[in-house]
Amino acid sequence: MVVIFLIGVSWGAFRSAVGQEIRDGVWVRKAFSRLTWLAVGSADSFLLHLFLFCSYTRFMQYTLSIGAAAPTITIHRRLLAAFGAPLPPLRLDPLSQLVLALINVRTRDEVARAAFAGLALKFRSWDRLQHAAPDVIEPIIDRVTFPEKKAVTLPAALRAITARRGRLTLDFLDELPTDAARAWLTDIPGVGPKISASVLNFSTLQRRALVVDTHCKRVAKRLRLVPRPANDEKVSALLDGQMPSIWTAEDIFDHHRLLKQLGQTYCTATTPSCRSCPLRSLCPTGQARWAAPAKRLSDDRFAEPVMAVSSL
Ligand code: SF4
Repeated sequence: MVVIFLIGVSWGAFRSAVGQEIRDGVWVRKAFSRLTWLAVGSADSFLLHLFLFCSYTRFMQYTLSIGAAAPTITIHRRLLAAFGAPLPPLRLDPLSQLVLALINVRTRDEVARAAFAGLALKFRSWDRLQHAAPDVIEPIIDRVTFPEKKAVTLPAALRAITARRGRLTLDFLDELPTDAARAWLTDIPGVGPKISASVLNFSTLQRRALVVDTHCKRVAKRLRLVPRPANDEKVSALLDGQMPSIWTAEDIFDHHRLLKQLGQTYCTATTPSCRSCPLRSLCPTGQARWAAPAKRLSDDRFAEPVMAVSSL
């Protein structure tokens, strides 16, 4: 590329200089013209081959942004065709979304929403929740996973916000760039990449941040979109980087919902239905599992580690 660029620049300068001198030399202009087209043709041909090389080489797909986004777009289209467009979220303010996300950890959505409604009814404002005793909170959220732990971490997280900002609000995040807002959120005790992304993407902030839950992580690893031994931070960062730059926050929300739906239906933790999965032709794990029935992988290979209580 550099050589072609330098040849082109030199040739253009030479042509310009000589062409000024020999204004009436028709043969010179024709020769210049043909050589120019030849050079352009070579450059085009080179770029075409470079494009094809970039399109088909996995290494380049991770390196170039257009290549990194390509598998995401294909997966998105397949899942849209299989499941239809997800319903838009009911957007809460950022602080309420944080409360919901904290009690939603390792808990089914409908159970978390019921607990969230119970807290809102009981305390009427999150300001009162931050000063509530754990033994008052726990009975209200007793159907979520690890209620005793969340009854402690939830008000502690709210108090941490008040301590840093002087009052309990996350509205100021609207004025921060997404990366800075995310960094601010992950400094709150108990807030990791998933919860920070949900505050930014699901709430009224509507930022470009992919929420990577257990289902999304499992699907991404089986599709080899991320390495299998990657931790939550790395998986979240890699998948976020694969979002097409033209996608809006709503597109990214849809992508999260579609991956999650796949993880809840076809790509379940212990018994993935690879045979009928809409992504099977794109999935190295699915193909390995079904291409050689005699060597089917044990379901143990699909099992996800159980999260420890201390990791909440
Ligand atoms: S082919 Fe199998 S492993 Fe791959 S995404 Fe589909 S269900 Fe999951």
